[in-house]
Amino acid sequence: MVNIFQLIINFLKKIFLKNEDEVIVNTNDPDIITDIDNQEDNQQENNDEPKPEITDNNIKPTETNIDMDNYNGNIIILDNGHAKSTPGKCSPLFEDGTRFYEYEFSRDIVKRIASKLEELGIKYYIIVPEIEEDIALSKRANRANKICEQFGANKCMLISVHANAAGMGDKWMSARGWSVWTTRGVTKSDAIATMFYEEAEKILPKYNMTLRKDTTDGDPDYESNFTIIYKALCPAILTENLFQDNKTDVQFLMSDAGRNAIAEIHVNAIKRFCGLK
Ligand SMILES: [Zn+2]
Repeated sequence: MVNIFQLIINFLKKIFLKNEDEVIVNTNDPDIITDIDNQEDNQQENNDEPKPEITDNNIKPTETNIDMDNYNGNIIILDNGHAKSTPGKCSPLFEDGTRFYEYEFSRDIVKRIASKLEELGIKYYIIVPEIEEDIALSKRANRANKICEQFGANKCMLISVHANAAGMGDKWMSARGWSVWTTRGVTKSDAIATMFYEEAEKILPKYNMTLRKDTTDGDPDYESNFTIIYKALCPAILTENLFQDNKTDVQFLMSDAGRNAIAEIHVNAIKRFCGLK
């Protein structure tokens, strides 16, 4: 009787674990990860379009105490991702009826990064001050490129801050971990992405958080021609800061300590990019 019961359990476990494995395999494929903004991104694969013209004049310098007339350092362009009105982009419902929202998370992380950069005297721009309105990816890239044109693309770096998802936000998934993304092929962004990965590797395991990497091209970043990093004139990376539909990951992302840790990864890598570390 016990044996039959055990057999049934093992059988169910097998089915269950197989499905879980499939989820993890799928999320290693950049085309299947569902966080990847929207269809606009998928259309960018093998895209040979010229870089976009700069048409958006709305981007204003982020308020800062740094004396820009005499500033000769690097410029960090911070993209805080989706808006409140972007569909999806949240965790499944917790038992207490609350959710994690990616727009709120990415804005908070960018704010934490910005306040540290202000302290360090590193100039930055937050290219999406809007909260409600979803700013199209091309428009965000235009805003970044306007800054590149003003200061020189070689002085700038773009960082797009996200939280990953393995499902559609209706149920908790098993895929976990932090990852960094660049466009396909080897560019200046790859070395920068490696700095981010190395800094994440120093910090996240302390909190029992995991990292994901794709070493098939000889470095730890994943590669996909997402619009925002593909169209940027400067080196550009995208961070997927753990999974918003994994309960363990997202509970960390909802904690103050977790958010400080995520911001610290970015700040430490930015310091290296700026030659301060
Ligand atoms: Zn996202």
